[in-house]
This record gives sequence, C-alpha cells and structure tokens, in this order.
Amino acid sequence: MDLSFSLEIPSPMEQQEEIASEQELIIIGGGPAGFTAAVYAARADLKPLVLVGPAPGGQAATTEKMENFPGFPEGIGGQALASLIQEQAEGFGARLVYDEVIAVDFSQRPFKIKTYEREYTAQAVIIATGAKPRRLGVPGEAKFIGRGVSFCATCDGFFYRDKTVVVVGGGDSAMDESQFLSKFAKKVYIVHRRDKFRATKHLVDRALANPKIEFILNTVVEEILGEDKVTGVRLRRVDTGEVSELAADGVFVYIGLDPNTKLFEGQIALDDQKYIITDKRQRTNIPGVFAAGDVQDPDFRQVVIAAGTGAAAAIAAEHYLSGQAR
Ligand code: NAP
Repeated sequence: MDLSFSLEIPSPMEQQEEIASEQELIIIGGGPAGFTAAVYAARADLKPLVLVGPAPGGQAATTEKMENFPGFPEGIGGQALASLIQEQAEGFGARLVYDEVIAVDFSQRPFKIKTYEREYTAQAVIIATGAKPRRLGVPGEAKFIGRGVSFCATCDGFFYRDKTVVVVGGGDSAMDESQFLSKFAKKVYIVHRRDKFRATKHLVDRALANPKIEFILNTVVEEILGEDKVTGVRLRRVDTGEVSELAADGVFVYIGLDPNTKLFEGQIALDDQKYIITDKRQRTNIPGVFAAGDVQDPDFRQVVIAAGTGAAAAIAAEHYLSGQAR
C-alpha cells in the first residue's frame, strides 16, 4: 500500500492567481483603517480585496499597548488589535493578498493597480496606506538603522536591557515609548527641541514621575555617534547654542509621521504636507477613490479614528458602487 501523500499548499503566487484581476473594490493597506474598511465592505457583499503591503497592522502594530481604544479597559496591544480586525474582515469574506502596490492609474475607470506580482483593476478603491515615521535627517541616523537607531520601541526595546537610550521628540509617541523602554533600559533620556510638549499632559506627567526617565529640553540631536554601532549623540541647545555629547547605546526617533502617498502623487489631490485630501464621506477628488486612516489625517492619527474613517470609506464606496452616492 502506498502511504505517501503530498500536501498541496498553494504558493503565494498560486494563491494570487486564483484571485481574478478584475475586482469591484480594492483596499490598499492592511492597518486598522484598511481592515475596518474590509469588515464593512465584506458585510456589504462587495468582496473586497485587501492588498496588505509591507507592514501588516500598520503603525498600530508597532504600539506595545493601547490604553485608549474604546472597549478595552485593560488596554490592548496594537498588533493584537490589528489581527482581531483582520480576522473579523476575513470572517466576513474579505480576501487578503500580501503584495505591495508599486503603481496606480486612476485616470479612468476601472482603476489600475499594479503590484510586484501582477496587475488588478477595480471599480472603486479605498486607500489606507497609513504613515511612516519621520526621520531626523542628521549624520549617523541612516548609517545606524538596525545598529542602534530605531523607530519602534516595541520591536527593538528588548535589546536595550540595562542600557542607556535616547528618545527624540515631545509628542505622545515619545512619552509612551519612553515609558515602555524604561522597562528594559537603565536610563532613558527624552531629548526635545522645546520646553513645551505636544504630548497629552497625562503622558508627560507619567514620564516626569518615572525615575528612569530624564528630560533634556530645548535641545536637538545634531549627530548620532559611533563606529560600528551607536555610542552616543551630539546635542545642541537651541537657546544657547552649547554643544555636548551624551553616551548612549540606542536612539529611538519619535518626531512624527509622514503619510505614505508617494504612489499617488500626480494622481489625486494632496495637501501641502502630502496628505490625501478627503471630504466628510472620505471621498478624494477622483470619484470612486476613497481614503481612510493616517494617510488622510494630519491632525488626530488615532487608531479609533483610523478605524472610523475606514468604516465611513467602505460605506461611501458601497453607495458609490450601487449608484446611490449622495
Ligand atoms: P507628533 O505629535 O507630531 O509629535 C512630534 C514631536 O516631535 C513634537 O514634539 C515635535 O516637536 C518633534 N519634532 C518634529 N520634528 C522634529 C525634528 N526635526 N527634530 C526634533 N524634534 C522634532 O508625533 P507623535 O508623537 O508620533 O504622534 C503622532 C500622532 O499619534 C499624534 O496625533 C498623537 O496624538 C498620536 N499618538 C497618540 C498616542 C496616544 O493617544 N496614547 C500615542 C502615540 C501617538 P514640536 O512640538 O516642537 O513640533
């Protein structure tokens, strides 16, 4: 008796070939906005195809714990939340493809969307490509990425047990992530260019009360120092111009986010900071193309708002596709 058998697991390429090129609705981006749009669109029987892209879970996935997402009084991890929304979307029939969009053509319908692997068309598109961490642009930053420079404490904090780290920024992210890093590091310096904070008072107060965290204010990082890995930073006080060096093993940069809109330049209207311009129904200037989440939100950038705009975009796309757009 021949007991041999082979498991027929399709390769990612084969899986994609089972999916038709012509789609009704394509959602670009697999963070809370894209996955929530997928939940709503799938429930509306639009059979959305989600092109998840390079960073499943989006910025949310880089957050250790969210304490302000409604419904989770104990808090929830960003990655866990994104996975739950994804599971919910797939449960309703959304299809996910882990492939990155490299070009779009919104000049006529159906819209064309090219990925690394193939080309799709869609009658409607929801853009939910999110935002990426802004860089300092100082000498040493690019050179030491992965060797002491990081934009994700959740991903890399563990490597700094009993070490000294510098966090740059004065917003919610800098405060939250310093708190997280203080679980591992023996010392966390927050270097901020002003003496006023963009961060919520509650988060600043919590950082001030943490004995491992020390603030260095009115100061910028001019250079990240080291040979093979980070050994410190060169600092400059903005008020006096005084320059000094601070020894550190790691630098975590939290100076805000830039929208992921490079793909859409020249295709849809962007504002002066390159965020996609949307109206209250998440419509862009191209009928049939909607946007949700951080890619169109220079102001709030909260996961609950990203999810909310994802839902709104899906409802608006459904109205559009059924000819009921208001
Ligand atoms: P942010 O609020 O834009 O703050 C960026 C910080 O970096 C500011 O303090 C800014 O200084 C500083 N900065 C900007 N460019 C700089 C440069 N070139 N050199 C030195 N410093 C620079 O960014 P974020 O903290 O990443 O937050 C992004 C969004 O996510 C916000 O809407 C925030 O509320 C949200 N968020 C919320 C939570 C939460 O609710 N728990 C957690 C994380 C993030 P200035 O103040 O001088 O401009």
